[in-house]
Amino acid sequence: MTDDRWLAQALDLAVANVAEGGGPFGAVIVRDGTLLATGQNRVTRDNDPTAHAEVLAIRTACADLGDFSLAGSVLYTSCEPCPLCVSAALWARLDRVVYAADRHDAARGGFDDREFYELFARDRSTWPTAVEAGRHPEAFAPFDAWLSNTERTAY
Ligand SMILES: [Zn+2]
Repeated sequence: MTDDRWLAQALDLAVANVAEGGGPFGAVIVRDGTLLATGQNRVTRDNDPTAHAEVLAIRTACADLGDFSLAGSVLYTSCEPCPLCVSAALWARLDRVVYAADRHDAARGGFDDREFYELFARDRSTWPTAVEAGRHPEAFAPFDAWLSNTERTAY
């Protein structure tokens, strides 16, 4: 199927989710022309601020594949991924992300995607959530443990 067809499916999921009491976002993950997983925003339904459509699709695809990498796959989403979901896509090593609406459409819909992108361009001292380095003497201990573990699974 073409990009447009997969985007249409993501958009259908987003519209349907609103009727079911969720947020207006949907996503699908595709590999080699085959649907791997779908996701719909479940933030308010599950009381989970990280339950974005893209994140849920990534979680489902990885669980079904038994793999933490989605290399070779494409994420189609009804709206430009927010910084959380872009990062999730990067961590998942997706080949491509294709979106329908953009961050400006999301802003018109009442969502903070664009605001969060703008936040990352500003100094952290201006953020509504304080993010502070509380440097601790043992700060590197987890990495020492990691680096000395010869059985570690790199990701
Ligand atoms: Zn998101």
